[in-house]
Amino acid sequence: MNQIHFMNTLLKTTGLTKSFDSPEKVVDDVSFAINRHEIFALLGPSGCGKTTTLRIIAGFEQPDSGEVVLNDRRLVGNKSFVEPEERGIGFVFQDYALFPHLPVIRNVMFGLKNVPRKQREEQALEVLCMMGLREYRDRSPFELSGGQQQRVALARAIAPTPELLLLDEPFSNLDAVLRNSTRSEVRSLLKKAGMSALLVTHDQEEALSFADRIAVMNEGRIEQIGTPEEVYYRPRTRFVAQFLGTTNLITADAIGPSALTEFGRVNLDRPAEGRVTLSIRPEHLTIEKPNRNRDNYLGEVVSKDFKGHDITYRVRIRARECMVHTDNRVNFNAGDHVNIRPLEAAVVLEEPNVHLETAKSPG
Ligand code: ATP
Repeated sequence: MNQIHFMNTLLKTTGLTKSFDSPEKVVDDVSFAINRHEIFALLGPSGCGKTTTLRIIAGFEQPDSGEVVLNDRRLVGNKSFVEPEERGIGFVFQDYALFPHLPVIRNVMFGLKNVPRKQREEQALEVLCMMGLREYRDRSPFELSGGQQQRVALARAIAPTPELLLLDEPFSNLDAVLRNSTRSEVRSLLKKAGMSALLVTHDQEEALSFADRIAVMNEGRIEQIGTPEEVYYRPRTRFVAQFLGTTNLITADAIGPSALTEFGRVNLDRPAEGRVTLSIRPEHLTIEKPNRNRDNYLGEVVSKDFKGHDITYRVRIRARECMVHTDNRVNFNAGDHVNIRPLEAAVVLEEPNVHLETAKSPG
């Protein structure tokens, strides 16, 4: 099993660390591996060190320590350093960086070196066809839409068939509609070409929809690596829970598989003991009418935000408020007395001084 995993690894970074002018580490012990044919994202807020990590992998920046290995070849670390153009890595930047005075085809041909001109033209045309850009081959970049320019930039980067493609916020200059469609087109093109890519973004939705796996970064460190579903549904830390979407953070007393919270006993995603912090996504809660025969209820609807296909409620329970996302058939109004019921297990976050029991594997 380990052997298969090892064979699949294309890029491996180990213990990357980098400071600039101050002793504070901008990249702090960053280690991750990207598999062949995998789209991997580094996701985090502005200034957390994503671009610096990408630039170290590209060879535009030297780390203070750590190493980068691509396809079993050490690119940096242990006193070795491979020049950026020798790394077999392609880049696509936020601003496309196309040559405005060259037609589309010549922009794509630019990436192809050490090949006769005729062959360069054929290869460039092949990639343009794959990108659905054949008819634009003789246009100037300024005669194209933002999405088309971005696809040309991508065509230029993938024409030399690099082993790894680095994408630095490549969709952020596009408007919202174009961004979504370009993103899914680019994803399916990368998958069709069987390429591996590393995307850097601060946009949660982009990382969740584009990547096969995500590393969530905060203040220079990776807090969690997992599939989009893992990091969203099972965040390990408070930061990951909050950065990846709206959540309710609740302090509760855990006893094994469940905990007592403001809205009753909830199941936990893993056993714990003592005071714990739990994350429950608003869509993992629902609102119900209190039982008429018992006039006790838990909370009161504070506000209702109708958004068409779903509704977000704020519900006050004792001194605190929590958020509940329901579909548009769950209808309540501000002032209604309601109960809240969890639909999924709450996620126990890793916090200091919490004792987590190791979940026993079945059998
Ligand atoms: P953004 O999404 O805003 O690009 P980021 O997560 O990619 O952010 P980096 O660009 O890696 O973050 O920057 C991390 C920190 O390092 C920032 O505080 C930045 O100011 C600092 N930094 C980056 N490059 C340099 C440099 N060449 N010299 C000094 N400081 C730098």
